[in-house]
Amino acid sequence: MEGLMMNYPLTVPSILDHGYRVYPKKEFISILPDKSRHSYMFSDLYKRSKKLMHALVNKLGVNRGDFIGTFAWNHYQHMELYYGIRGCGAVCHTINIRLSQPQTEFIINNAEDRYIFVDATLVPLLESIAALLATVEGYIILNAPKGFSTKLKNSVDYEELIADAPDNTPWVEVDENDACGMCYTSGTTGLPKGVLYSHRSTYLHALVVSLPNVAALSFNDRMLVGVPQFHVMAWGIPFAAVLTGAVLIMPSCHLQSAPFIDIIQKEQVNKASGVPTIWLGIYAALKNNPPAKPLPLKEVLIGGAAAPPSLIENYEKDFGIKVVHAWGMTETSPVGTLSRLQPQHDVLPSAEKIKIRALQGQQVPCVEIRIVLDNGAIAPKDGITSGEIEIRGPWIINSYFKSTSRENFSEDGWFKTGDVGTINDEGYLQITDRTKDLIKSGGEWISSVALEVAIMAHPKVKEASVIAIPDPHWTERPLAVIVLNNQQESIIQEELNNFLLPSFAKYQLPDKIVFVNEIPKTSVGKFNKKKLRQLYAEGKL
Ligand code: ADP
Repeated sequence: MEGLMMNYPLTVPSILDHGYRVYPKKEFISILPDKSRHSYMFSDLYKRSKKLMHALVNKLGVNRGDFIGTFAWNHYQHMELYYGIRGCGAVCHTINIRLSQPQTEFIINNAEDRYIFVDATLVPLLESIAALLATVEGYIILNAPKGFSTKLKNSVDYEELIADAPDNTPWVEVDENDACGMCYTSGTTGLPKGVLYSHRSTYLHALVVSLPNVAALSFNDRMLVGVPQFHVMAWGIPFAAVLTGAVLIMPSCHLQSAPFIDIIQKEQVNKASGVPTIWLGIYAALKNNPPAKPLPLKEVLIGGAAAPPSLIENYEKDFGIKVVHAWGMTETSPVGTLSRLQPQHDVLPSAEKIKIRALQGQQVPCVEIRIVLDNGAIAPKDGITSGEIEIRGPWIINSYFKSTSRENFSEDGWFKTGDVGTINDEGYLQITDRTKDLIKSGGEWISSVALEVAIMAHPKVKEASVIAIPDPHWTERPLAVIVLNNQQESIIQEELNNFLLPSFAKYQLPDKIVFVNEIPKTSVGKFNKKKLRQLYAEGKL
């Protein structure tokens, strides 16, 4: 027998409807690229998102299911795009501004974006590849200064586009399972892979992110979003904040320590998010230049790479700030687990508490994780037995965009994360390794395979293998281990980097090369990266 409840669709525009009905006067603050402060209310966000939705449909002819790209910093217009694009049934494709030109070109063509909304300061990055973007019909410029001009075809100013559109047209009707957002994640082969979110997955994820045991967002909070909006929808905070009535503060491009600390002080920020690299930098800046008055910041959500235990301890000890460590992936929307202490931990010595908080944490509601051993058995929850982490739930990927491959999925439909870890008897996950051949530097991916292939294309190189080595600031950096064709010849860092630069973003280039006579191989003749990592750890590379 079916239950007798309404079948009320869980759609993203209905999140904004709620924010508008219940918290119309809530503030939304943006520090814009030109450093000016912009502030308006949730009611303005609602009305302007409606205007945008109307303009998308009526001026640009956008249809349900079309892909619309955003190439922008964190600010109110990007938030209007988050809601307005979804509000007309289209898919908001947030493009990572840090990718190399070939990668950016690939993902825009692969997504078949019809229009791209781009910040004026980022326009040069698109101008250089625009001729190669087959499906893009036009560009809408955000935050354009007076007299701004661009070579991009069919460009129009954002404010002009929405100026005379009505602000009260109903949202386009959609099914809760319709696609509404897309992000690309780095594939191990070097080609990025699309992850397509639905209205339902986004809504449920936002609800759970808001819970007290998760990001604990409420109308008492002033949340600074330190995760780019092009990075897994800023971890869902833009949706969770509107659901819960938290004041949102967006820093646009001002993610360096000094302006970030300034924003925290001036805007009375009590919660914030970001990858470890940002928070390591902020900690160092605070230590060097202690704030005159205590920071209003109480809690920081850190994820995207492992938060070092010392970072968690130092923030608490020196500034009374609680670091909440989370683990997730683009494929998991992203929140999968999160570490908070529970009442039974109160009696533990503080060093033990830090150890627990440095774990990746417990699965959040709706999500299930398991550790699978090489023989297919499920590992016991003993905190020791490690294997690949598999995950399932309503906001976990079921298939990559335009792909039929089941390589990343178990036979019974769980997603294989490529992360390796353990789960203890209290259900806390710890990441111990990675099966995927990727390097994560400052929260952004570098494909070791793509680097190896490119390095081996250099005429002086016979073999090259790239591994991740630990870095105190960036978490990981690439190390290139190279065998030269002619051992007498040399290749200097600069020569190699100039050779690689056309295909890679600057941050993806190896900043260290070692030359060896031979690269250790596995029994099937692949580069033995485990051995290379071990040699590096022993100081033998
Ligand atoms: P995001 O950076 O938003 O988490 P990505 O898809 O770019 O999403 O990266 C996901 C990967 O980053 C994970 O599979 C894992 O390898 C790594 N990662 C994310 N969070 C953590 C964490 N807290 N500790 C260790 N590794 C992490």
